[in-house]
Amino acid sequence: MIPDEVPNLVAGEERPPAGGAWLEKLRPADGTSLCRIARSGAADAETAVAAAREAQPAWAAQTPVDRGNLVREIAELLRDRRDEASELVAAETGKTLELARGEVDAAVEMGFFVAGEGRRSYGRTTTASMPHRTVLTLRRPVGVAALLISFNTPLPNIAWKTFPSIFCGNGSVLKPSEHTPLSAWWFGRLCHECGLPPGVLNVVHGLGPEVGMPLVEDPRVDLVSFTGSSATGRTIAEATGRRLAKTVMELGGKNALVVCDDADLGRAVEWTVASAFSNAGQRCAAASRIVVFDAVYEEFRRLLVEAVDRLDPIGPVISEASLERVLAAVTAARAAGATVLRGGERVGENGWHLAPTVVEGATPGAPLSREELFGPVAALYRVPGLAEAITLTNDSAYGLTAAIHTASVHRAMLFAEQVAAGVVVVNAGTHGSEPHMGFGGVGQSGTGWREAGVEALDVYSETQYVNLVVDPGLA
Ligand code: NAD
Repeated sequence: MIPDEVPNLVAGEERPPAGGAWLEKLRPADGTSLCRIARSGAADAETAVAAAREAQPAWAAQTPVDRGNLVREIAELLRDRRDEASELVAAETGKTLELARGEVDAAVEMGFFVAGEGRRSYGRTTTASMPHRTVLTLRRPVGVAALLISFNTPLPNIAWKTFPSIFCGNGSVLKPSEHTPLSAWWFGRLCHECGLPPGVLNVVHGLGPEVGMPLVEDPRVDLVSFTGSSATGRTIAEATGRRLAKTVMELGGKNALVVCDDADLGRAVEWTVASAFSNAGQRCAAASRIVVFDAVYEEFRRLLVEAVDRLDPIGPVISEASLERVLAAVTAARAAGATVLRGGERVGENGWHLAPTVVEGATPGAPLSREELFGPVAALYRVPGLAEAITLTNDSAYGLTAAIHTASVHRAMLFAEQVAAGVVVVNAGTHGSEPHMGFGGVGQSGTGWREAGVEALDVYSETQYVNLVVDPGLA
């Protein structure tokens, strides 16, 4: 099932990279070779964009209902092939099959939600200021979309961008992470099996600067939709800014989870563990700052450490470079006076496994408190009360998600009103949104757009205002 070589998909055909170069993809679980992937460059980006450009008008001419129906068929086939998809994701990421299956399910749900928009994609009809006129809005495709994504949850990341982009009538070029090529390769095949016309979705593999940047800079690309780190997002936004292309950024997070003195501590610990360590902490919504009221700090810390000691293996991080980056950050925090209560070390010799790590005593200004690590590290902070918890939550360049554990609806609402975050969760974990709800952040977590939900339609289509003279003789 796993090919030796993962080619590009251009105009419905699998093609080797124009330059003939390949990259080796290793298995995060044990460091052994998984496959080789196309090391694409500017020439591959160029042909993929050309294919998308050529296919787009005929695709856009199909009705939204028909395009939605095809999205539904793709989602159904994805559901039918859940096991196959999960095995690929587990192999390329090292996550458990159980986690991978949940992600396939999430991708399927996104497809079903988007498919339904085919019969529900409303515009506005409203009053005109002049007599005998009607004013309304229509949704139009943007044109050609470059979709650049992160590795962390490969199929949901693909689904969140490709389904609405395809549905809205765009031609798309998907550039998956070089760490997760298999899911994107497989998804492209699945789409064509369902009858997606050649060129509507193209997939190019390789390194960001080599094939991602040529896509971003191509003047025929009308929309760049990016999910990844804030640093890469800034580089891409600079390039798209120069040519004023529509640019959508879903970026990093340094998410806080607040535990008040009236919280159910057992529950708060469970959610902290899930939020900080699931997917080995490689979630944009991962809780990395755990802010605990003084009155319950010691008890919470005791329960948290016990829960971490009971944890099953959390799976590897995606690469040796990731592992080293996280270890270096913990080492630096320790050198600056923080205490590592648990973890802070590599587990085993094969693959890129890190122990779930709990740190206390890092100052709010320390790099560990400010920079996204994208690994299994939770730092504890103690605060006297809610006002200080909110101040600390907001003391971040990011603003993606935030959670509070409290029995008080007043505290919960104050928190929601006062924290700068795109998602606020009360008495659960820091997590993403459901397929029908918009997801995105403020500050360095994004550029104000929301993906998923009907909000995704605003990303992948343009609204056009139509002013209709009802009777030219009267107007
Ligand atoms: P990354 O920024 O390193 O890479 C993301 C994608 O950009 C990859 O496909 C990569 O190849 C490409 N890329 C890298 N450099 C590029 C360049 N110069 N030009 C064009 N493309 C380039 O991020 P990552 O390590 O894959 O993912 C982790 C980050 O993604 C974290 O910051 C995480 O918070 C974020 N993320 C955000 C969301 C969200 O919805 N907000 C969701 C998932 C992940």
